Amino acid sequence: DDFANKLQQTLSNVSKLQVFGDKDFQKALNNVRMALIDADANVKIVDDLISKVETNMKTAKIPRGVTKTQMFVKLVHDGLVDILGNKGTAERILSPAQQQRRFMFVGLQGSGKTTTIAKFAKLTLKKFPKAKILLVACDTRRPAAIEQLDILGKRVNCETFCAEEGADAVRVLEKALEYSVEQKFDYVFVDTAGRQVIDDDLMQELGRLEKIAKSDETLLVLDAMTGQEAANVAKKFAETVHVSGAVLTKLDSDTRGGAALSLSTISGCRIGFMGTSEDLDGLEPFYPDRIASRILG
Ligand code: GDP
Repeated sequence: DDFANKLQQTLSNVSKLQVFGDKDFQKALNNVRMALIDADANVKIVDDLISKVETNMKTAKIPRGVTKTQMFVKLVHDGLVDILGNKGTAERILSPAQQQRRFMFVGLQGSGKTTTIAKFAKLTLKKFPKAKILLVACDTRRPAAIEQLDILGKRVNCETFCAEEGADAVRVLEKALEYSVEQKFDYVFVDTAGRQVIDDDLMQELGRLEKIAKSDETLLVLDAMTGQEAANVAKKFAETVHVSGAVLTKLDSDTRGGAALSLSTISGCRIGFMGTSEDLDGLEPFYPDRIASRILG
């Protein structure tokens, strides 16, 4: 996260200044802008942030006891929080099931998708202890993926509908949905095939699965450690499925959170949750404030 270091450096230099003249201000503003653009953040959104900081710096009343440089740092921080804003996304996703709620989880292999489903089931049960949750293993090409979901499902006390190896994913989903209605499941969480790279085959299958599932939420699972690449992946997925929210995993790693920034400014994808450990308790609502602080160091 090179950009985060640059940003941090800029703000730390600003903090050290005794006098924050107009020239220092313009220079700092420009450095912040460049750091964010280096992070592949969308230029228009960055420029909006910059002009907001500029206007506020000139017009907002600086509270007593706050220096101009502190004010500057705070305005940049608030701008990032705005960009990362996800108002209500987590609450909407984790809402009660008046009728059966269906979720599709999509993402690249290794992003943490299967783990996230189990974590999400656990979180749902914590909030709605009586909820009946069915996990559906639709990654029919990888027996190991089916088995993994089954094992994780048992750990969180949820039933898993397992596909037979090589079965048609669409057919498996149809059967699973029938079963889920018969058995009156409140939530159905569908694990879909992951790939190392995005290919047309996978995408077509996802599109078909989403149509059949009529999913209430299609959640894209992204690995924060992939940095800005996460935003490109999000754009690709959004061409085929209706991504309604993202889960950014592995934020417990030493990444600064550049992925969150690129994602929010490039793909417009709202981040609902973040993965904070390998443990099945490690899923939390995504707090823009915390990530902004982390990005700024
Ligand atoms: P999938 O291929 O997308 O289904 O990915 P998996 O669920 O198998 O996860 C890949 C690896 O990432 C596993 O070793 C998980 O334990 C790990 N993982 C998933 N989410 C997190 C997270 O939030 N933090 C950490 N540290 N590891 C994670």
